Amino acid sequence: MELLKRRILECGRCFDGGILKVDSFINHQMDPDLMSNIGKEFAERYKDAGVNKIVTIEASGIAPAIMAGAIMHLPVVFVKKKQPKTMENMLTTTVHSFTKDRDYTVCISGDYLTADDRILIIDDFLAYGNAAFGILDLANKAGATVVGFGFIIEKSFQNGGTKLRDLGYRVESLAEIASLDNCTIVLK
Ligand code: 5GP
Repeated sequence: MELLKRRILECGRCFDGGILKVDSFINHQMDPDLMSNIGKEFAERYKDAGVNKIVTIEASGIAPAIMAGAIMHLPVVFVKKKQPKTMENMLTTTVHSFTKDRDYTVCISGDYLTADDRILIIDDFLAYGNAAFGILDLANKAGATVVGFGFIIEKSFQNGGTKLRDLGYRVESLAEIASLDNCTIVLK
């Protein structure tokens, strides 16, 4: 997605440890026009895939997921990082956070993720795939079918994309970063 790639090169910033900061337009301050185009792109790529629900994880996955859901007219459910006392039929799994370097128990209600669902999983970044594998585990526990994944940015030099594709999953990433070495953003 050219618009997104240009914006990453113009406004993205590198941090040590292979972290790309895009908080001026994606995950702190957000650009709704860009996010709307991101939603359209996911909707276009998955329009014939028979998806009936979009699943994401809070917080930064919610904006692209809701944009895609609005265009596809599909419900969006987000995995929560804190377990609400009132959640019924709770499914849980553990996810390691790449940016915060800690483990979270995350949850989703089995009322909103069921064996009848064919889901598209959307998130802002794909790095090592920990968040993606956490959502996959929840989908497996619910008996849901995973149709594919959509990421705004995939860091191809970390191995989440390889692991998911090797397992046969469809992975659509709107921008792929080949390297952040020497604090230079190199797109694939
Ligand atoms: P993974 O679980 O694939 O290792 O990492 C993906 C999650 O970590 C995403 O949900 C995202 O929030 C966060 N993340 C991973 N890499 C980056 C990065 O380079 N920059 C930012 N801002 N977040 C990242």
